[in-house]
Amino acid sequence: MSYVAVLDAVRNGPASTRPEIADVLHLGRNLVAQRVAWLLSSGLLAEGELSRSTGGRAPRNLRLPAEAGRILVAELDALYLTVASADLQGGLTGFVREAADINDGPERILNRVADLFEQKSDGVGVPLWGIGLGLPGPIEFASGRPVSPPIMPGWNGYDVRGHLSQRFQVPVWVDNDVNVMAFGEHRKGLATSYEDVIYVKVSTGIGAGLICGGRLNRGSQGSAGDIGHIPVEEGRAILCRCGKLACLEATAGGGAIVRDAETLARTGDSPALAAVLQRVGSITLTDVIDAARRGDRTSNELLVRSARMVGELISRVTNVLNPSLILIGGDVTEVGDVYLAEVRQVVFQRAMPLATRALRIEVAPDGDLAGLRGCAFMVIDNLLAPDVASRWISRGSPVGVPDLV
Ligand SMILES: [Zn+2]
Repeated sequence: MSYVAVLDAVRNGPASTRPEIADVLHLGRNLVAQRVAWLLSSGLLAEGELSRSTGGRAPRNLRLPAEAGRILVAELDALYLTVASADLQGGLTGFVREAADINDGPERILNRVADLFEQKSDGVGVPLWGIGLGLPGPIEFASGRPVSPPIMPGWNGYDVRGHLSQRFQVPVWVDNDVNVMAFGEHRKGLATSYEDVIYVKVSTGIGAGLICGGRLNRGSQGSAGDIGHIPVEEGRAILCRCGKLACLEATAGGGAIVRDAETLARTGDSPALAAVLQRVGSITLTDVIDAARRGDRTSNELLVRSARMVGELISRVTNVLNPSLILIGGDVTEVGDVYLAEVRQVVFQRAMPLATRALRIEVAPDGDLAGLRGCAFMVIDNLLAPDVASRWISRGSPVGVPDLV
């Protein structure tokens, strides 16, 4: 057991040298030296620089070597997927992004993800430790299965974990896409020094990931943060894809902006959008953003209206959770300062003064990378959690140990 404790002390601090480990864990120096020697020979620890001496010979720093194992990660959106390979420090390589329609269903999409994973594994000598996946819908975290996902027809109850773990014979963790984005920013990104963070993704749909007291809060089933399906006043008559009326997502999300833009193009309220519709036959969120940038008032109003509704909902969540940082990510980050300014104004106007006193609201421009990094840390943190690590550490790696999830 003390092998796991030594590894954990080095990875999560505060100990990084043999004397510090002995102090922190209240272990004898000989025992620590023997444990560290074994972990070094297994490749689970590596020696780093000399630390500062406090008198006598300076001890060497120890660290978990990033290259001891690798994690394959994928983040799925409604319209595209991204995959990458990660080292044990969350460093990403081999980033690929391609169009993929989530409506194609789990078999086809996951087979494509697995093919891309296999391409990343060709000729790589570092052992594969696990797989992490982010999906754009509600995920029951314990089973890794989507539950009634509004934008993922055919995925309800699908055994995502089983599909990938059977093919790669490694443990697989699955979470909601916004949760892994929030987690990625918290573990290695814009939110590393914040304990209470809300990450709001506004793309086709809307969702939030919640970091509370330094931990990702999934709620009891995995559904926490699903703010896209909270009703808003303006949406009274709008039916959401989830089957309920007036959801924020159906009223202010990227899909709603596009739907309203097409209506305004047809009625002639926006000549700029009408021209796009006539030329291409459909309108995308990027078209609306471009038109607003070129001075189309109607397009600008659509985006500001979305920002105001999202801001109003965030102000209520702010009163409930009192975050110190709110990150706005997703496709609307392309809108630029206008969107953020509107969200900020509404939140600072509507939320309680104590809740906004030290609050920062910023754009998170790299949601894809944050999500992939979050997927990697979801796997690494789970594999190295003391109760899980104690089941594989005597073998020197989790490779080939079944049922670690
Ligand atoms: Zn809904």
